[in-house]
Amino acid sequence: MIVNNSLDEVKKRENALSIIKDIVENKGREFLFDLTGLSGGFIASPSELSLLETYVGPAIFEDALQEVGIEHMGGEKVLPLNRTSSGILATILTLVEKDSNVVHYLAKLPAHPSIPRSCNLVEANYFETDVFDEFTIPDNTSLVIVTGSTMDHKVIDEDEFKAVIEMAHERNIPVMVDDASGARLRTVVFNQPKACDLGADIAITSTDKLMPGPRGGLMAGSRDLIDEIKVKVNQFGLEAQPPAVLAMVNGIKNFNKDNLVNSFERKDQLFDLLKEKFNHIQKTPTGVMITPEDLTKEIDIDHDLSDNDLAFVFSMLLLRNHGIITIPAVGMPGASATIRFDLSTSDAFNLDLDDLSEKIFSSFDELISAIPNEDECKKIIF
Ligand SMILES: *Cc1c(COP(=O)(O)O)cnc(C)c1O
Repeated sequence: MIVNNSLDEVKKRENALSIIKDIVENKGREFLFDLTGLSGGFIASPSELSLLETYVGPAIFEDALQEVGIEHMGGEKVLPLNRTSSGILATILTLVEKDSNVVHYLAKLPAHPSIPRSCNLVEANYFETDVFDEFTIPDNTSLVIVTGSTMDHKVIDEDEFKAVIEMAHERNIPVMVDDASGARLRTVVFNQPKACDLGADIAITSTDKLMPGPRGGLMAGSRDLIDEIKVKVNQFGLEAQPPAVLAMVNGIKNFNKDNLVNSFERKDQLFDLLKEKFNHIQKTPTGVMITPEDLTKEIDIDHDLSDNDLAFVFSMLLLRNHGIITIPAVGMPGASATIRFDLSTSDAFNLDLDDLSEKIFSSFDELISAIPNEDECKKIIF
């Protein structure tokens, strides 16, 4: 195993960022192809930027965000956060007591790590399942969690979504929806209602997933509950700062549903091209992906690397050789090591898919030649 813990993941990420910097400085931004689906945009006009002072900024932009945020998410009030993870933590700090139970239903494991970590922090008992028939709400449950769309973009079934909310509400238990990418993927591509309209008490989305906003979280829900959580958010410094709030407002305003719908159609073409070489590639709603477990199955030579290590090496080779950015290279510790090629964000629009698939194939060939040499693989990752 090469990447063993969060510290290794931090070092891997630093290496990826230095490769990105090198490409930008020595070749140009146009030699990078961000296919993560997290575009992290920062749309702002000079006059807006001049209002970014500690107290003036929030006065203007938090107010603007209420309007566009509620339109995007539903609910009575929205709350901008540093990240989706911050919103998950704040909700759990507010609603979950020590030794109480938290149950989570999602379309496919694993959950985002911020959920079990936050439960652990408050010493709650955490249960998760992706088998609907096994989902139950035990006594002494303080919070029910639903993930709208997983880290790998597996979207929840709408009937199951409604059923879980109903089960929770029958027992007066609040429901938090982790709708990081789901707030757009579920609604635009799968025509599902907004989480708040389905009855969620709290829904949180990530403002840089499948939309041109900054890394950040946006929480929506009932006014009273949002206010209660906002206290914790401010106490622990989890709120989004004015520059991020400004970029959230403009990110939401510039969110274009057509881009999601187009990538939904284009991904079939990329899938067919990649199928020539890979047996285990899968479609996502807006692209294609290969999980670490499936990547291992594509490789029939002996080695001691873990499934995730293989994904990290592959992702780094794609970045180093072709400027293709995927999450395993740049992700935060605990992020999914699935290699996803997302076609929904701007770098992908003009990409020739034949050319992209050739680049993916050539990086895969390099992965195969690197695998027998573990030191070489370490060098590629770090
Ligand atoms: C990305 C993601 C998160 C975390 O978002 P951050 O902004 O990185 O904290 C949480 N849950 C799911 C399902 C995600 O995909």
